[in-house]
Amino acid sequence: MLASQAIDRIRAFPPRMTEFTKQFWWGLASGDFQTTRCDGCERLTFPPKPFCPHCWSEGVRWVPLSGRGKLYSQTVVHAAPMVFQEETPYRVGIVDLDEGLRIATRVLSETEPGLDTAVEIVVLQYRDGPLFAARPL
Ligand SMILES: [Zn+2]
Repeated sequence: MLASQAIDRIRAFPPRMTEFTKQFWWGLASGDFQTTRCDGCERLTFPPKPFCPHCWSEGVRWVPLSGRGKLYSQTVVHAAPMVFQEETPYRVGIVDLDEGLRIATRVLSETEPGLDTAVEIVVLQYRDGPLFAARPL
């Protein structure tokens, strides 16, 4: 189960929840980080999808992720899209999860983490729902 952190405001750009993605968002709200794995070719996909983008199979199932990985790249955003302007400056990065997935995410760190720093995914519990971010371990 992921660590979580309360944030006393609403999400600047809340994700659109669909009948399919609600499994991800409801799981995230209770500390589970999960995605889909193809029954045909066994490959993982992130973000989760109702079909496999590698072999186009529609046989996919939900599987848990460890929420652990390593920082592949990062930067600080100073000039943000209007909707995120109040949050600047903020750090974003690319994380290689232990399961072999490469994901883009907000990075929570006051100082610049070195590349390959071990990170964990945490749940950000906003007033209107969850988001996730990575932080150094
Ligand atoms: Zn597949």
